[in-house]
Amino acid sequence: MSANFLPYGRQKIDEADIAAVVEVLKSDFLTQGPAIPRFEKAVSSWCGARHGVAMANGTATLHCAAKALGLGHGDRLWTSPITFVASANAGRYCGAKVDFVDVDPGTVLMCPERLEAKLIQAEKDGTLPKVVVPVHFAGQSCDMPRIYALGQKYGFKIIEDAAHALGGEFMGEKIGNCRWSDAASHSFHPVKIITSGEGGMITTNDDELAWRIANLRTHGITREPGRMVNESHGAWYYEQLELGFNYRMTDLQAALGASQMTKLEAFARRRREIADVYDRELAGLPLRPLVRDPRGISGWHLYMIRLNLDEIGVSRREVFDRLRARGIGVNVHYIPVHLQPDYQKQGFRRGMFPVAERYYEEAITLPMFPGMNDADVLQVRDALRCSLAEI
Ligand SMILES: *Cc1c(COP(=O)(O)O)cnc(C)c1O
Repeated sequence: MSANFLPYGRQKIDEADIAAVVEVLKSDFLTQGPAIPRFEKAVSSWCGARHGVAMANGTATLHCAAKALGLGHGDRLWTSPITFVASANAGRYCGAKVDFVDVDPGTVLMCPERLEAKLIQAEKDGTLPKVVVPVHFAGQSCDMPRIYALGQKYGFKIIEDAAHALGGEFMGEKIGNCRWSDAASHSFHPVKIITSGEGGMITTNDDELAWRIANLRTHGITREPGRMVNESHGAWYYEQLELGFNYRMTDLQAALGASQMTKLEAFARRRREIADVYDRELAGLPLRPLVRDPRGISGWHLYMIRLNLDEIGVSRREVFDRLRARGIGVNVHYIPVHLQPDYQKQGFRRGMFPVAERYYEEAITLPMFPGMNDADVLQVRDALRCSLAEI
């Protein structure tokens, strides 16, 4: 990147991607054509899941997966406070109550011990969740075997929020293969691992769940005679079986997504290389990266640093502003969801999830995208060195 401003994330589009989109523009179908199943197959087979259901965005996939898993009024969905608001909002779209499980102080992933303690209490109170959404924050997988075991014991369903993690692995399994979950949600927003402009996909091994999510994607309408309640009136006939949505992806987007999938391996490799360069170059500075679970390979959507605030004598805000002034497009992921005004209205208060809140005070997201070169990484390092030095 030669621009003066280095963003924290950026898509990488080549001529083949452009040609794939143009081809759709010249074809018969701009939506609901052949590019959709092609993209679905590309992602699901990469992950090793039986089904992929492409949708308008990642948020829509979380919403429909939660609904298709039976989440409704009076039910509960639990997720991590360190995530994008969409992971929590999915529950509220279904009329469910949302609650959070505090994160592990090292990995900043949903903490299995805290989850278990909260489940034990919820069982006594009669407030067990129906759906739990572990978030593979920054690209690193949560401890899915443990969360899955708790799901078996306490009877909740699991949707992995894998928006950061396509291309990553855990215990030799591709993230998104749903070995330890009911479904995994992916996002193809331009800052994510691959892009379709806007877009999302559910991967799942559950045939009926995949069908129901695909049905919800298009108004809850079916044209399959075997699924209909009444006798068909003729070839034009369709039935709405439940209240669904228009959450379809266009063929333009799917063609871009499918073309991007051919580069996923290379993108993932480059992200890992950049992470290695950061690890090496930032060693010795008064900051620390997230703790890594040696059983996994991160998808590296984000490279997070945490400032040793006691040591540096300047605030996160100060360091952040100095980096921005030097043209480094740092960001912060995330403002804990329960601190959002709309969640405060739901009764959440500061202090409820102290590990997440503490993490938020220290965190800065450094630029990380496959189009970065090593010189860009060194530029970030130099800017960090200057910004951390006391004036
Ligand atoms: C990006 C993202 C989503 C979904 O986002 P969309 O923009 O709707 O595709 C969900 N969860 C997390 C953690 C995300 O980062």
